[in-house]
Amino acid sequence: MATATLSQFRNEPLIDFSQPANRQAMEKALQKVRSEFGREYPLRIAGEEIRTGDKLVSVNPSNTSETVGIHHKATAELANRVVEQSFAAFPKWSATPDKDRVRMTVEAARLIRERKLEFDAWLVYEAGKTWPEADADVSEAIDFCEYYAREMERLSGPQPVVQLPGEHDEMIYIPLGVGVVIPPWNFPLAILVGMTIASLVTGNVAIVKPSSETPTIAAKFAEVLLAAGFPPHSFTLLTGSGAAVGDVLVQHPKTRYVSFTGSRDVGLRINELAAKTQPGQVWIKRVIAEMGGKDAIVVDADSDLDKAVDGVLVSAFGYQGQKCSACSRAIVDAKVYDQFLAKLAPKAKAIKVGNSADPGNYMGPVISAGARQSILEYIEVGKKEGRLVAGDSPVPGNGYYVAPTIIADIEAKDRIFQEEIFGPVLAVAKAENFEHALELANDSQYGLTGAVYSNNPEHLREARRRFHVGNLYFNRKCTGAMVGAHPFGGFNMSGTDSKAGGPDYLLLFLQAKSVAAKV
Ligand code: NAD
Repeated sequence: MATATLSQFRNEPLIDFSQPANRQAMEKALQKVRSEFGREYPLRIAGEEIRTGDKLVSVNPSNTSETVGIHHKATAELANRVVEQSFAAFPKWSATPDKDRVRMTVEAARLIRERKLEFDAWLVYEAGKTWPEADADVSEAIDFCEYYAREMERLSGPQPVVQLPGEHDEMIYIPLGVGVVIPPWNFPLAILVGMTIASLVTGNVAIVKPSSETPTIAAKFAEVLLAAGFPPHSFTLLTGSGAAVGDVLVQHPKTRYVSFTGSRDVGLRINELAAKTQPGQVWIKRVIAEMGGKDAIVVDADSDLDKAVDGVLVSAFGYQGQKCSACSRAIVDAKVYDQFLAKLAPKAKAIKVGNSADPGNYMGPVISAGARQSILEYIEVGKKEGRLVAGDSPVPGNGYYVAPTIIADIEAKDRIFQEEIFGPVLAVAKAENFEHALELANDSQYGLTGAVYSNNPEHLREARRRFHVGNLYFNRKCTGAMVGAHPFGGFNMSGTDSKAGGPDYLLLFLQAKSVAAKV
């Protein structure tokens, strides 16, 4: 194993916006970013600027008359070209010494840290994140770089294997080849950075297709990669429609793997397309797919109800419920059900919703008109299935706003209990007892995050054993996984359980080679 040169990993501290100096600095960053609104971003392929003329206009979801950035969309033909060029670049890039790639990765972290407030501001304007949510996203992006740099140091060079008499035995990790990286818009920096950096630090060539909702943030990250020393042939940012460009990238015989985070349906489609061997293809493509969630918080009869209410509230409505880890089902023991709702509903109604650039708002807009429409339709379904106790009220403003909505008396068969809504809509179900609550929690095709509020150690032991989710939390919210401490990834239709930010993750981007020499 290579000698570690980096200090022990530590999570990036969050900015405290209650400090006047930090608030002023953020206001300045917002102003600076606004001055760049409407800029045009050409495609950059192997250092060449390309303008296809087919434009993608990214708007501010808090104020839809503002254009954040204008991007040129790639074509299927360009996508083919990029895979061929990336394949040709792989031998050179993969031969870069590990320590150089680690150095570039740490430098990328440093550059994002240096521009942290600016990145925060881009996330406020393009993704509709409030200041603290934006800062958590950017901090996580820095964490991924720092953590994976250290992981690559650990995985560099020969790994410990048994030495047979008369032989010198080794096992080393080598990169896979050309990887297609497809992130979602909801962690437009953290997930984009995590999947891209994992690809690059391990020596793969990355083709990154950002979400059409957040292309400007991706363009800013591409600037960071180049400034950190990653050569233009090591990665391409290929902005374009998932349908037009995605299939070409996924199906190309020279694509070696796909690293995807997004919805269940798109993930399943990618998995299916990638499984079909194309003429000339000489490997089985690897698919790393992290997908949706329908995450539950179980509230036991014996629990601190105020803490449970607050935990459900932040998990359900933080970033407008648009987190794969968001609590969309609260499953509450019948003994405390009415009391729980009586405490929860007024707190949800008191949440301030509005422009995410205004730090007085706890919730900003949802990402797009389409998302808003789909969420409102689910609220209509929910009103028929259960009892509306908060929300479904208009929010003024020129953005895609949806009020925090709670629908009680929901049963396991109901659509809003089973389907991912991806917005500020919480279904509340009554459980007969703790056993029933666990059954309800597991009554889902998904298995991403979950939490239990309980003071009963036996119940917590039972949940540890039987609550079938990739990330389980006790007496705390079910969102906010921290790199290093909470390796993140789900079971069943939530994905391939890749455990981002954990010690197993980089192995997904590597393959092991065993070398034995007679001595
Ligand atoms: P999405 O599936 O609509 O899009 C994800 C990405 O796939 C985007 O970049 C999109 O352009 C691309 N895409 C769309 N069609 C494609 C195709 N045919 N081929 C290739 N790429 C294609 O998801 P979204 O709306 O961006 O994100 C929200 C979803 O992501 C939710 O379901 C959420 O739960 C999930 N998510 C999961 C995790 C996790 O770690 N499990 C984390 C964040 C988000």
